[in-house]
Amino acid sequence: MTRDTAKPRAHTASYYAATVNTVTDYPALSGSQTADVCVVGAGFTGISTALHLAERGYDVKVVEANRVGWGASGRNGGQMIGGIAGESAVARHWGKGVEALFAELRWEGHDIIRERVKRYGIDCDLKHGYLDVAIKDRHLRDIEADYERLTRADFPYEVRILSRDETQEAIGTDAYIGALLNMGNGHLHPLNLCIGEAQAAVSLGATMYEQSPVIRIDKGRRPKVVTRDGSVTADAVVLAGNAYHALATEIQGVMFPVHSFIIGTEPLDEATVAVINPHDLAVCDPNFVLEYYRLSADKRLLFGGRINYFGDDPAYIEKRLKAKMARIYPQLRDTRVDYAWGGTIGVPLNRVPRFGRLDDSVFYCQGYSGHGVNVTHLAGRILADAVAGTLEQFDLFASVPPVRVPGAHALRKPLVALGVLYYQIRDRL
Ligand SMILES: Cc1cc2nc3c(=O)[nH]c(=O)nc-3n(C[C@H](O)[C@H](O)[C@H](O)COP(=O)(O)OP(=O)(O)OC[C@H]3O[C@@H](n4cnc5c(N)ncnc54)[C@H](O)[C@@H]3O)c2cc1C
Repeated sequence: MTRDTAKPRAHTASYYAATVNTVTDYPALSGSQTADVCVVGAGFTGISTALHLAERGYDVKVVEANRVGWGASGRNGGQMIGGIAGESAVARHWGKGVEALFAELRWEGHDIIRERVKRYGIDCDLKHGYLDVAIKDRHLRDIEADYERLTRADFPYEVRILSRDETQEAIGTDAYIGALLNMGNGHLHPLNLCIGEAQAAVSLGATMYEQSPVIRIDKGRRPKVVTRDGSVTADAVVLAGNAYHALATEIQGVMFPVHSFIIGTEPLDEATVAVINPHDLAVCDPNFVLEYYRLSADKRLLFGGRINYFGDDPAYIEKRLKAKMARIYPQLRDTRVDYAWGGTIGVPLNRVPRFGRLDDSVFYCQGYSGHGVNVTHLAGRILADAVAGTLEQFDLFASVPPVRVPGAHALRKPLVALGVLYYQIRDRL
């Protein structure tokens, strides 16, 4: 398992990087180190796993190519959404009993986040309240089904179906025909959560290395993680590079790296906030080429969406997303945009988060589609259990066969562009 040495990079110029509580500056890995567990990648998957393991007394070393939270975890929409993508594929494979286990797992990531924010005093603007909005009648039917499923499972937070008028009142736009209000979902500052969790892990004895791209993993009884200037030999390795890693070609062809983009406006005045989002809700539409938005703590509109684009030119991102934002909120047509950025999401072809092993003691998990804030935290617990020898849930997920497209990684740009086009057409039907 090798890769070319990537040049370490600073955080992308996002709203989150500009408002981060602490700029991390952990040392680069050097010399020959040992650990119980070495985690590769310091996004939510890696950091969540490391914190679970540190809480159980493991000696954990995390090796990150760039900075803690540099990948999707520090750039995302910050929408804390329950559920696990690919559930129907899992149900087909697992058969009976899936619904009960999924009801249990669907919200576990949220519970972990809430518990950590409280226990470690992480300041990440965590707020509750979320709207799944409907554009077409079939979306309303999905919302009703969701509502019934949640009430059947005794979901402990308020859930309510909103009429067209109630939706308009809640978010000041007539773009939608109804919505599901869910007070168990919410939103947060993802980079501050990720760094806060890393600091919690360090306070329990974990070690972070930044600016240390892993170039090779030597498999074996005690696998060795190798960077240009150092190595960590451990009893177990957890690969958590998701859409950003190129370490193991054998797991790349099962996942498309899909790009998503966000703009952050200037802070909005009180009167505008009172019209467009008085209850501070996160909002997400049901399309595959979806739009999602929310207010930041300082009342900027953070508006995200997918566009068929692979670059990172802020001017281009602003132009495309501002037009989408103005369709929802025409009054923001001339509002200044202060931030524009993008990132890469790992989307498995069957949408099921991909748990697996490259060797007896080299574990990985990747591919959460747009549910990563929640599911990475669940994945961290399942990975930590697996490393500790409890493999039941890890093996259940790992048993779902991935869908492979030969050459998918090499051809990803044209295939993703075609996919987005296909879904854009489907979303319009
Ligand atoms: C723009 C955008 C908006 C999104 N919005 C939402 C949302 O609102 N809600 C939601 O739930 N999900 C959202 N997502 C998805 C979510 O952010 C991801 O699913 C989740 O953050 C994945 O976390 P991760 O730790 O697995 O990967 P990442 O956060 O991508 O972390 C991987 C890390 O591994 C490191 N790495 C890679 N290769 C190496 C190597 N060789 N050596 C060392 N380190 C390496 C990278 O530098 C990186 O820091 C969004 C994603 C994007 C990009």
